[in-house]
Amino acid sequence: MVKENKPALVYKPKPVWDELKPGEGQAILEFAAGYREFLSAAKTEREAVDFFVARAREHGFGPFSPPAGSLQPGDRVCFVNRNKGLLLARVGKRPFSAGVMLIGAHLDAPRLDLKPNPLYQEDQVALFKTHYYGGIKKYQWLTQPLALHGTTVLGDGTVRRMVIGEAPGDPVLTITDLLPHLAKDQMEKKMAEAVPGEGLNLLAGGLPAEAEKDPAKEKDRCKKALLALLYHNYGMTEEDFLTSEWQAVPAGTARDVGLDRAFIGGYGQDDRSCCYTAVEALLGLGIPDRTAMVLLVDKEETGSDGNTGMRSRFFENALTEMIYAAAPEPGLSPELVSRRCLFNTRALSADVTAALDPNFPEVVDKRNVARLGYGVAVSKYTGSRGKYGTSDANPEFMGEVRRIFHQAGVKWQSGELGKVDQGGGGTIAQFLAVYGMDVLDCGVPLLSMHAPFEVAHKADLYMTYLAYQAFLAASGE
Ligand code: MN
Ligand code: MN
Repeated sequence: MVKENKPALVYKPKPVWDELKPGEGQAILEFAAGYREFLSAAKTEREAVDFFVARAREHGFGPFSPPAGSLQPGDRVCFVNRNKGLLLARVGKRPFSAGVMLIGAHLDAPRLDLKPNPLYQEDQVALFKTHYYGGIKKYQWLTQPLALHGTTVLGDGTVRRMVIGEAPGDPVLTITDLLPHLAKDQMEKKMAEAVPGEGLNLLAGGLPAEAEKDPAKEKDRCKKALLALLYHNYGMTEEDFLTSEWQAVPAGTARDVGLDRAFIGGYGQDDRSCCYTAVEALLGLGIPDRTAMVLLVDKEETGSDGNTGMRSRFFENALTEMIYAAAPEPGLSPELVSRRCLFNTRALSADVTAALDPNFPEVVDKRNVARLGYGVAVSKYTGSRGKYGTSDANPEFMGEVRRIFHQAGVKWQSGELGKVDQGGGGTIAQFLAVYGMDVLDCGVPLLSMHAPFEVAHKADLYMTYLAYQAFLAASGE
């Protein structure tokens, strides 16, 4: 046996930083700087859609509207779903019936939504009632500076967008917590019960409106003053809250973390880290062999329901529009092309996974958890309680992805979400798999997932970008 050809018998994952190519360290840091700006600018699914549409437009992507039969290889198109979802596509050389190379990620992130009738006054302060969105540890959202990102539809149909708390000098909102001196009863509660959902009320104002001459009208002067302020700034009344979506999110920008700036810390990295890396990968692509697509959906954190979530037909509809606009395939009806396309498609479900946290090693299987700085993480399955609710990827497809990554020099690792029976989670993989396509979960490992300040390693972000780029460019087998 020739010694040089002997494969390594033992699998030993290595940190990305140990295996950098020339110039790659600098590329990693520069990529992270662009990502940090995106994370600071896009705090809601709407803002992320706006960001990506503008970015895609710079790269020649336009709204979809070609007449039948005119869509050509190399064309760049963009479908927006109600300002909360997005499909970007670069048309490939092969016909649609060969399937597409698809990356799907989600734009929504856990947060606090204002209730339909949010504003009230209690004692001398005005507050907003909230209903939390997605899986949060409620106590993490107390005593944080929070910004409001809102969309309001006025009575005459005018749409107002507002952001309060992000610009330097802007006021922020916050949810107060009990001082330790008086927290004896609170401290004895279970963490899940210490902060009730109805206790997540935002401190919104404390300056009373001018005193009324009629004592009967003296009530709620702080609330009235705030309503006057909202009317002055946005032309909205209290009733307009009923036709609004206002989200309270952590205020401020994403930051470098660590004395060596190894990490990015910031809100919404589940799953905007995968959205950003996927879009950047698509924008830099040449004319692909198969059509390359990036699908960004909403509502993953609440079960993928609703017409902007993965369970709606937006992707299928957009794909069908493209198939009707492409050159007809001899002997195949567009309907059959569409069915074959879905079945032959290869997809990465681009979502984050949990990284090994040195402060909490007990919740993971050390032999199977993803590690920060070891590259993009691939999860064969997610789910919980015996893989319930998962799309367990087929090893044949995983082998294909592995060869793609290997050829492109992508550093990747396997990551299982926690110990068996410790909990678990899901992604949009199972809803993509419904179409018959091959799907694999693949994304950035995170610390403090779903917290107001999540942490990712810059090397993992960059490897995720390279992985998505290699996948979209692959010709498929
Ligand atoms: Mn996610
Ligand atoms: Mn999540």
